Formats: sequence, structure tokens, C-alpha cells
Amino acid sequence: MRLSGKIALVTGSSQGIGAEVARRLAEEGADIVVNYRSHPEEAATVAEGIRQLGRRCAVVQADLARVEEVRTLVKESVAQLGRLDILVNNAGIEKNASFTDVTEQDYDAVLNVNAKGVFFATQAFVRHLVETKRSGKVINMSSVHEELPFPHFTSYCMSKGAMKMLTRNLAIELGPLGITVNAIAPGAIETPINTALLHNPAKLHDLLGQIPLGRLGKPNDVAGIAAFLASSDADYMTGTTVFVDGGLLWNYHEQ
Ligand code: NAD
Repeated sequence: MRLSGKIALVTGSSQGIGAEVARRLAEEGADIVVNYRSHPEEAATVAEGIRQLGRRCAVVQADLARVEEVRTLVKESVAQLGRLDILVNNAGIEKNASFTDVTEQDYDAVLNVNAKGVFFATQAFVRHLVETKRSGKVINMSSVHEELPFPHFTSYCMSKGAMKMLTRNLAIELGPLGITVNAIAPGAIETPINTALLHNPAKLHDLLGQIPLGRLGKPNDVAGIAAFLASSDADYMTGTTVFVDGGLLWNYHEQ
């Protein structure tokens, strides 16, 4: 087990990729903080699975769009499990609208969770590491859309572009502290965020035609990369984005 003795906070881990990352890190030996915003019963199910693996698990509610709650999340995680070694910035949302129709409210919703929340969660985590004089690992759940345009999802693309530069910047600033910062860029993964796509056979067919590996990704395809980046196998990696997209990025054409 590559993560024995480590403690990881995974934001937005009551479902989808985050839930699978939380489970996978636990399988590798880590104790886990499951964070959720509004589905305590799903978070409890994920936590139960982690405890069945013999790991400790804390469940902490926090809205990542609110900086005070983000800071409390890190504080509460440390209070319950003793310290943190790994932060996975997974929570994220998207809103579909033509550029001319985007509301200020929807713009703020996306940027507050995907960019501001990630920024201040990382800051709180790094302050904790500095205070306790320890190294650590930050893993940012970005997207192929940190590179790839996605019409009608401009705020989402902006947020993932911001995440890309946060990753690059902090790799340099935090490297001397022994803190690594990497990102994962999933392509199209079967999770609730893609419910509309999964129910649109024509769009799904078009998309599958553009994925060289010929299938959507599963949360587990992403979770394995998170486990690797959290482990000492990745100690010499920082400032990098790992694409987990079946080849989509280099083969995509908007219809
Ligand atoms: P999802 O909708 O299943 O999960 C998103 C998680 O974030 C949920 O648990 C949700 O509760 C949480 N969340 C949202 N807003 C929150 C808030 N304000 N506070 C706390 N938690 C909040 O989607 P997913 O596919 O599992 O997405 C996980 C991450 O992966 C996101 O950052 C997403 O952008 C990224 N991603 C997903 C795909 C994909 O195809 N599924 C592709 C690229 C990137």
C-alpha cells in the first residue's frame, strides 16, 4: 500500500470522481476526510465503505464557494484526524449557456467553487503544512478544458484554465517547502456531471467517435492517477497536468 499513514482530504467526495478517489486513496492505506455540500446520506455511504477497508474516515460538510467554510473544512479535518498530508481539490461545477445568456449568478457560482474555493482550500492546507513543518501533496481535478475550448461552457473553461496556472505557479512557489502541486485533466467520465450527455444518444455517439480509445472514462480511471500522484512514486513531479481522456484532447472537433 503506497499511502499507509497518510491523511487525505478530498473535496466534493460524496459522489462521482471524488467518491472514487476517496475510496482508492483509502485502498492504498490513507485515512480520509470526505467532504460534501448537500448530500449527507451519500457522504455517509462513502465513509462507510472507507471504514470497511479498515481506514479512519471523517465526514465534514462545507460549501467550497464560501471561503470561511473552506477554512473551517481544513481546520475540522485536522481536528478530527490529527493532520493532513494530501489535498485533492475535486469539487467542481459547470453551467451550460450561450455566452450572451450567462448570468452573473451562474458565472459566480462556477468561479467561486472551481477557482476561488480551490485557491483558498489550498492556502488553508499549505498554512497547515507550514505551521506543522511538513511536506505535502496537492492534486487539482482540472479538465481537458484547461486546454480545449468548449463553447457554451466559457466560465467552466476559464475556471479550469485558472486551475492550470494555479498548479504551475504554486509548483514553483511551494517547491522549496517540499509541497508538490499537480493536476489531473479528465476527458469525458461517466458521472452525474454528464447526466444530460448520457441521456442524449446523438451527442454521445458523436463524442465517442472522437475518443480514440472508443469509450467514456470511469471514475476509477481517474482515481488510479490520483493515487499515483499522492504517492511517493510521484515525488519528483510538480507543476504537471496528467491527461486521462482516452486520447480526446488531441482528436477533438466541435460539431
Ligand atoms: P459530480 O457532479 O458527480 O461531482 C462534483 C462534486 O463536487 C459533487 O460531489 C458535488 O457535491 C461537489 N460540489 C459541487 N459544488 C460544491 C460546493 N460548492 N461545495 C462542496 N462540494 C461541491 O462531477 P464529477 O464528474 O465527479 O466532477 C468532479 C471533478 O472532476 C470536477 O471538478 C469536474 O470539473 C472534474 N471533471 C469531470 C469530468 C467528467 O467528465 N465527469 C471531466 C473533467 C473534469
